Amino acid sequence: MIPEDHPRYRSLVAREHLARCAREGIVVPEGLAAHGRGEAFDYLIGEKTSPAALSAERIAAALLLPASHPVISVNGNTAALAAGLLADLQDASGAAVEVNLFHRTAGRVEKITRLLEDHGVRVLSGVPERLLPLSHDRALCLKDGIGTADVVLVPLEDGDRCQALCAMKKTVIAIDLNPLSRTARSADLTIVDELTRALPAITRFCRELDREEALALSARFDNRELLREAVCEIIRRLEHALD
Ligand code: ATP
Ligand code: MG
Repeated sequence: MIPEDHPRYRSLVAREHLARCAREGIVVPEGLAAHGRGEAFDYLIGEKTSPAALSAERIAAALLLPASHPVISVNGNTAALAAGLLADLQDASGAAVEVNLFHRTAGRVEKITRLLEDHGVRVLSGVPERLLPLSHDRALCLKDGIGTADVVLVPLEDGDRCQALCAMKKTVIAIDLNPLSRTARSADLTIVDELTRALPAITRFCRELDREEALALSARFDNRELLREAVCEIIRRLEHALD
């Protein structure tokens, strides 16, 4: 039992939950390491949504809303941490949800699909094909999903796959706490925020924005500037860390 008054209660609960999901085969051990890197960056950004991240979340909604075939790519960590939040975002954005795994087995895809469906997510099904310009199973995705998507939201994506999606001329939105990762630097739009803070914010903006506002926002944004602001926020916090 984790005491609710522990100063790191949320973090400890998330760890315990991910460890349980790892034992169930939803999260892979590598996913636990990835979560740790994310936590470290969350510490550096103060475990809160920065103004730049909030802008990026608004722009993400503006990209998803007018898209003709938006797809959310879901991996094990994302499903474990945010299945219910994904159902809300799917409802608000109209995006399709595809399970797409770095460490792919049919059994894991099935378990993750079941977890998502239990939380009300409609999950695309079908036979995956090697459509991404990558070696091995990382190239696999669904033709009716990521294969033909115009906008892809990739929470917690690997840099290689993010670059492959960009090379296919898709508009890629990443959620990544590390503003220096290859994913963060190659995505068209990077949300430097924790997954469970970012998803509800995007959902809220999907419900708030009208079409005209969305088109205006999506037409002009500068991802390098958003990333620079994220890095500056870390620098500012470090400069005053021991004050
Ligand atoms: P890249 O492959 O993009 O160069 P990487 O290899 O360092 O980066 P991966 O292990 O491929 O990173 O993916 C994990 C990424 O997800 C990390 O950058 C980490 O910061 C981020 N991350 C982990 N957990 C969360 C979370 N809950 N919310 C947001 N980001 C997260
Ligand atoms: Mg990586």
